[in-house]
Amino acid sequence: MKKRKLRVLASSIAAVSSIAASAIALTSCGGNNVTVPDITEKGTVVILATGGTIAGSGEAGKETGYKPGSISVESLIASVPGIEEIAPLHAQQVCNINSDDVTSKVWIQLAKTINAYAEDPDVAGFVVMHGTDTMEETAYFLNLAVKTKKPVVITGSMRPATSISADGPMNLYQSVVVAANPESEGKGVMGVFSDSIYSARSMQKVSTFDVTAIAAGPMGALGFVRNKEVFYYEESIKKHTYNSEFVIAPDDKIKQLPDVAIVYFAADADPSIIDWAKAHSKGLVVAGAGAGEFSEKFIKKLNGVVSDNYPVVISSRIDSGVITQDSVLVKKAVAANDLPAQKAAILLRLALSKGYTEQNKLIELFKQY
Ligand code: ASP
Repeated sequence: MKKRKLRVLASSIAAVSSIAASAIALTSCGGNNVTVPDITEKGTVVILATGGTIAGSGEAGKETGYKPGSISVESLIASVPGIEEIAPLHAQQVCNINSDDVTSKVWIQLAKTINAYAEDPDVAGFVVMHGTDTMEETAYFLNLAVKTKKPVVITGSMRPATSISADGPMNLYQSVVVAANPESEGKGVMGVFSDSIYSARSMQKVSTFDVTAIAAGPMGALGFVRNKEVFYYEESIKKHTYNSEFVIAPDDKIKQLPDVAIVYFAADADPSIIDWAKAHSKGLVVAGAGAGEFSEKFIKKLNGVVSDNYPVVISSRIDSGVITQDSVLVKKAVAANDLPAQKAAILLRLALSKGYTEQNKLIELFKQY
């Protein structure tokens, strides 16, 4: 097969030197003005790099003690043998940061960028390179904010690029395979990690170090990747991408999402943290014990803050199962369904950005998305 040329947006090429790479990319990270170049090769996969361990650099061979978001997208792609044979690639360095530093400004910039490229008929799909720590949040946000049936894949790695047996190159290769495959269309944003494909809604980080750290608990994988082949078995039935009401168009004026606080309940937890949350946010997600349960003093405090102007969503600190509305102990609060707190917060922030604060409307949204 013919060798294809990789094009990298000139203005955003980060230097190979780790320090310089971060400094250059960070200047435009989370910026609001999105302009994308015209893509001229049919079937192009656009790779948007944001940093993370996949772009991490450290002591040669070591798995720990590295700096995430150090290596440019150009160098990372160049380290994957045969990737240019899958599809024409167009790379853009959106940021080069640790994913723990990702903000709603970065999410919005990513959604706008994808929506702008998606209008180009020569673009076949997208791969977002991202740190694994908050990958599930960015995936779920994009699942609700991008409007396209073109495949959008998110990936990263658990080992830095400079470690022995780095997992980034294979994850990137497999992500491009998935993004270039027409069977991936209309499935919403998907995570590709260690041979498996996950829905953005179900994927979660489940280990602090394992190379299979991105998984989907009881929902499992949508499918698998082997070499250049994609095998699908499942699909998410929840609303996303092309039928989401939270799409953020490239010219949308929104700069960031309203703040939502997350409070984690534990035995004997002091409920006064809820007063602080109320004073510093537009809404609250509480991760309860078991099926969204709390101490009497927590329930009393939550009943005191919840209203149609200050919504409270009840999720669980347990990673498996569902919270039903009739089991919610704070009667004016909303069940997060099966969403973990960090994803429930994203749906609540998007709902608040549309002015939805009323309990019944939020209950409906948490069932649909
Ligand atoms: N701290 C890193 C990040 O999320 C971890 C990783 O990518 O695996 O950016």
